[in-house]
Amino acid sequence: MGQVMEPTVGDVVITADQIAARVAELGAEITHDYAGRPPLLVGVLKGAFVLMADLAREIALPVTFDFMAVASYGAATASSGVVRILKDLDVDLEGRHVLVVEDIVDSGLTLHYLLRNLSVRGPASLEVCAFLVKDGQQRIELPVNYVGFHIPPRFVVGYGLDHAGRFRHLPYIAHLDGAE
Ligand code: 5GP
Repeated sequence: MGQVMEPTVGDVVITADQIAARVAELGAEITHDYAGRPPLLVGVLKGAFVLMADLAREIALPVTFDFMAVASYGAATASSGVVRILKDLDVDLEGRHVLVVEDIVDSGLTLHYLLRNLSVRGPASLEVCAFLVKDGQQRIELPVNYVGFHIPPRFVVGYGLDHAGRFRHLPYIAHLDGAE
């Protein structure tokens, strides 16, 4: 019987320094765009928690925070298109300037579902900051206002992104070997 190999971290795709520089740029853009109307940052758990913490500290405005948890792939690496809200927001969105902070957009189905769900709650504005967007994968047209990096359609881990619950703590984005 062959041994089942655990996937391991492969090539680094985006270094910690590159991430820090880009997050600072995004923070500056958001600071500029949201001057006079500080946004409510809505983080999509679990993947966005690292970006949320870094991004918020690069925004020179009195931002506020809330989080939603949605079901992810679990141990699989392909999109099912099925989205389940595991934890809803604590705050009311009525009249708020909402900026959704997402770790990665692949098919776009998760974000599409979330935006539809949030838009009916009466926000004054609703925009999206996605750290990673996988090129050529979107099955739906999506308004992503702030993008960290465009990457090729290959599974990545680190900087909040996991595989079966592991690797979220890595300070860089890397490929995963042995999972595809
Ligand atoms: P979508 O609905 O856009 O296909 O998928 C979005 C969700 O799938 C993300 O929030 C993330 O949880 C997961 N996902 C998509 N691509 C990747 C990837 O390359 N690595 C990891 N770790 N998760 C991914």
